[in-house]
Amino acid sequence: MSNAGTILRVDLTDRRIEKEPTSSYVRDYIGGLSIGTKIFWDGVPPNVTALSPKNMLIFSTGPLTGTLLGNKSVVITKSPLYTNQTIGNTGMGGQFPSEMKFAGYDHIVITGKSETPVYLYIDNDEVEIKDAKHLWGLDVYETQTRLKEELKDPDVQIACIGPAGENLVAFALILHDINNTASKGGHGAVMGSKNLKAVAVRGTKGLKIADPEAFMSLWRQFYEYYTTGRGRYAFKTIHEQGVGGQADACVKKDVMAWGYFDSYVVPSPKKEEQTSDFLDRYLVGHIGCAFCPAQCHQNLDVAGTGGGVTCWAYAGFRWLVKNKDQKLWWKCHQLCQRYGMEINEAAGITAWLMKLYELGIITAADTDGIPMEWGSEKACITAIEKMARREGFGELLANGTVPAAQKIGRDSINQAVQQRNKQVYPAVGMPIGGSAGIYQAPAASEVWVNPPSADIHGVYPWLAPALGVSEEEAEKIVSEWASEHAERTTGYRDSWEEFNYEHFADYAVVNEAAIAACDISGHCDWLSDRIAHYGIWWSPEENAKAISAATGMNCTAEMLLDAHRRRRLLELTHIKLSERAFGELEPIPFKMLMPKPDGQFKGAFLDIEKIPQVTNRYYEIMGIDPWTHLPKREELERLGLKDVADMLDNLEEKAAALDETPVEATPVKSPKRRKGKK
Ligand code: SF4
Repeated sequence: MSNAGTILRVDLTDRRIEKEPTSSYVRDYIGGLSIGTKIFWDGVPPNVTALSPKNMLIFSTGPLTGTLLGNKSVVITKSPLYTNQTIGNTGMGGQFPSEMKFAGYDHIVITGKSETPVYLYIDNDEVEIKDAKHLWGLDVYETQTRLKEELKDPDVQIACIGPAGENLVAFALILHDINNTASKGGHGAVMGSKNLKAVAVRGTKGLKIADPEAFMSLWRQFYEYYTTGRGRYAFKTIHEQGVGGQADACVKKDVMAWGYFDSYVVPSPKKEEQTSDFLDRYLVGHIGCAFCPAQCHQNLDVAGTGGGVTCWAYAGFRWLVKNKDQKLWWKCHQLCQRYGMEINEAAGITAWLMKLYELGIITAADTDGIPMEWGSEKACITAIEKMARREGFGELLANGTVPAAQKIGRDSINQAVQQRNKQVYPAVGMPIGGSAGIYQAPAASEVWVNPPSADIHGVYPWLAPALGVSEEEAEKIVSEWASEHAERTTGYRDSWEEFNYEHFADYAVVNEAAIAACDISGHCDWLSDRIAHYGIWWSPEENAKAISAATGMNCTAEMLLDAHRRRRLLELTHIKLSERAFGELEPIPFKMLMPKPDGQFKGAFLDIEKIPQVTNRYYEIMGIDPWTHLPKREELERLGLKDVADMLDNLEEKAAALDETPVEATPVKSPKRRKGKK
């Protein structure tokens, strides 16, 4: 029914195209992220490097994708950004995921490497690997325009890479349409390593809903909740401002990093420096993913810099680099976008360079004669262009922070605010308590460990106008919603608070499951219990009911959560085995251990004695051995993964069998530094 029914496998080395039914995976893994992870587990040995032809690039949709209740995909691959080349997943919305389903495919699995640049063209049942030499070097917008002209089809949906992906920049992204990205983890570089410029899909088959009456009844509940229920405040706010209003709130409440985390107090922010002012001036419309009534992306037309759309990239190239000129931010945003490069990563690395320059660890001679001065337009633009093209000092930076620090030396690594070679998001991104313990349990995507309490304390002014109350009242309401949700799901009202080291892991487990249930079903996790503190709702139970109505299978929340547990344990096991080939995960970075210098959390510091308590509690709930960090046999057997338990019992044997020299990309190793306590 609402599953399209087919997995498309394409090997670019021998140009083999195969199709297989999705059905054999559905019972245990349901769809989306969970099936995609199982395909990855079966197909990619842990010691394969991210840029090896043996790596898989998997576009996975869920049973709700392409229906009124879903529009998302996740893209799964080994990540060239993460320090030890582990599995990474990142969501991508827009029209592309639904079009995949309409063409008949739940998952597209790409392996191998073409000798010359190609693109994949899928027109319903017809699948072709086509020449893309003429597209190589074009930016992401030019590529899509050219392909639509060439295919004589303005409705074809395209996911592609820009020059950053072609140049294997470790934080290159995949972009679809104007602003839908698979952005976290360097997935664009994996696509580039396969000489794959684009995937173009056209589907006209539609989908069937098994029980339209039950499905529409759920959709009405969903719609009413967001138009007349508690969700209407956040719904209105994310439609009108997207994440931009959140950025303003973070500045106002002193949780936005200024000058690469040296401070959390942005000096005297003026009206014209606020995102809301920028939106007032340049907003021309709202767009978003297929069928979604929120349409949360802002379409801007900025005189002199050009039009474009943004979603969550409001912070990069602003306060972190001490830039208050929003037009410069927009210029950097558009440039990163065109190159197909993740803006927050590029901004974080640039800000780190500026910090190193201030400290005298680097000079202009290290950056091709460009002084890396705070807020400098020349420094920002040059850094972006050089990173994307791997030119000059850009070559030093294009593999991410940790490899660059290895070359720069001189305490540069201790100035970096990164985790596993990924820069930390400047708006409340630095863990302030329990989330540091959750970071220690490695995940394919870090999204779910964003510190919810810092988020809550920072963001409440964002909702005050829609709630029609003062900021103080808004804080009480938002905190109450968080507490209600925490009590209902974990039994502890304050488990969402970062400083509740005892029960923070309980909340993290629930949050992770809420996101995973969406990534499995294809529903947007922005409109889910993941952010229940904004009054937003859609739990694994609703996802399960919607899957049942859409597919006709009898899906329960327990089945959905078990599908999530299976994929999580496979993912963690894969990460642990990757560590054997590429080195252990890093300890908590030095800068994260420092007390916050100012702002709302002034003086707060990570209690290193208590962090293992959080990590171990997470492992305990998830059925993972806290000593080996590997899944326990009884949990694996409960989930029907006895084969994995048997393999882990013979891990040494298995490791020997996997003793294959890593190919292609050089594995990234962390320099030696002080270890976090365990
Ligand atoms: S709320 Fe989610 S599905 Fe809707 S437009 Fe925004 S990102 Fe897309």
